[in-house]
Amino acid sequence: MIDKKPFEQLIDKLKDEGKYRVFNDILRERGEYPNAIWYGKYNIKNIVNWCSNDYLGMGQHKVVLDAMHTALDQTGAGSGGTRNIGGTSHYHVALEHELAQLHSKESALLFTSAYVANEWTIVSLKRIIPDIVFLSDSKNHASLIQGIRHSGAEKKIFPHNDLETLEQLLRDVKGTPCIVFESVYSMDGYVSKIPEICALAKKYNAITYLDEVHAVGLYGNTGAGYAEKLGCLNEIDILNGTLGKAFGVQGGYITGNSTVIDAIRSVASGFIFTTSLSPVVCAGALASIKYLKDHNDLREKHQQRALQLKTEFLNEGIDVLENNTHIVPVMVRDAKKTKAMSDMLLDDYNIYCQPINYPTVEEGTERLRFAPTPYHSDAMIHNLVDSLRKVNKRFQEGCV
Ligand code: PLP
Repeated sequence: MIDKKPFEQLIDKLKDEGKYRVFNDILRERGEYPNAIWYGKYNIKNIVNWCSNDYLGMGQHKVVLDAMHTALDQTGAGSGGTRNIGGTSHYHVALEHELAQLHSKESALLFTSAYVANEWTIVSLKRIIPDIVFLSDSKNHASLIQGIRHSGAEKKIFPHNDLETLEQLLRDVKGTPCIVFESVYSMDGYVSKIPEICALAKKYNAITYLDEVHAVGLYGNTGAGYAEKLGCLNEIDILNGTLGKAFGVQGGYITGNSTVIDAIRSVASGFIFTTSLSPVVCAGALASIKYLKDHNDLREKHQQRALQLKTEFLNEGIDVLENNTHIVPVMVRDAKKTKAMSDMLLDDYNIYCQPINYPTVEEGTERLRFAPTPYHSDAMIHNLVDSLRKVNKRFQEGCV
């Protein structure tokens, strides 16, 4: 029988350090986004969700829901198998075609999430190019780090956005270099130096692997991401995206040259040996991508809301990490305090914002990460700023 002791010890340690994660039980209300219902231990109440990555509310958009209802009625719930054995439907084919077009690439490959897409694409690259050396930005997401570790390939880490160190590393690489980086870093909201990194890649004949998970749907004239916005989509060899954030549904993908994608498709176990996404999910994603291609207005409103929130926080003297993106990190720099502030916002002000602690961010950089959407009203913004001001005051006065 399993000994529970090491498990209890681990949980106690996490609780002691303020790193124990509590999942909030909420129910999003269709048509009322970002309002939601929170199910507490003793009560149920209305809250405003300030930390959803459904950045544009597409998870509740009529065109997405209509497409999903139609697919559900037409084809049923699940895909029925792996892509190789019964699980490739017309919706998968159409969605991959749409994704390739969106990113101006020849091909796309769907995975069950962007995490899986990152991990297994990187593992596959090592299988296909045995002498590959990964050059990885120090702030890269866990899925990229996991892919590199799992691949067993040689790796070199460069400090975030540090072009000088990156060039030094590129100069010394013995095998085939592959630069792995993100466009929008989700916890700080910083943007990587995509054109400069691509120029270095060209100079040293390196492969470029770009994670655009927090940019697809949100940046560029058609929502293809930050590389589109900066006009350097052509310089990216493999681009990774999610269908679960701005597109509001679920799943992940890569896009690139058709031979490259075909080879990855043939060796990536995390793609091959798992049931494919439901056609219903694919139908929703397809509708969402098409809709966002045509709706820059939603992207503009999103940016405007984020800017307004940041401005109001700064005016109130709140410690916001400054950036040029839609992400609004308020720095607390202490795990227990971040959790206590998050609890207070929820309990006393009906504001839901999950604390961000290690290992998602480095210790000492704990924060509240606000994600405004086009649907957060002026009144909601004023209320949030006022509530956070009151919470800070209670801490300053030692009332907690
Ligand atoms: N890449 C980055 C930078 C992320 O932040 C995330 C998730 O938050 C992922 C990949 C994984 O995306 P998904 O939720 O589709 O697995």
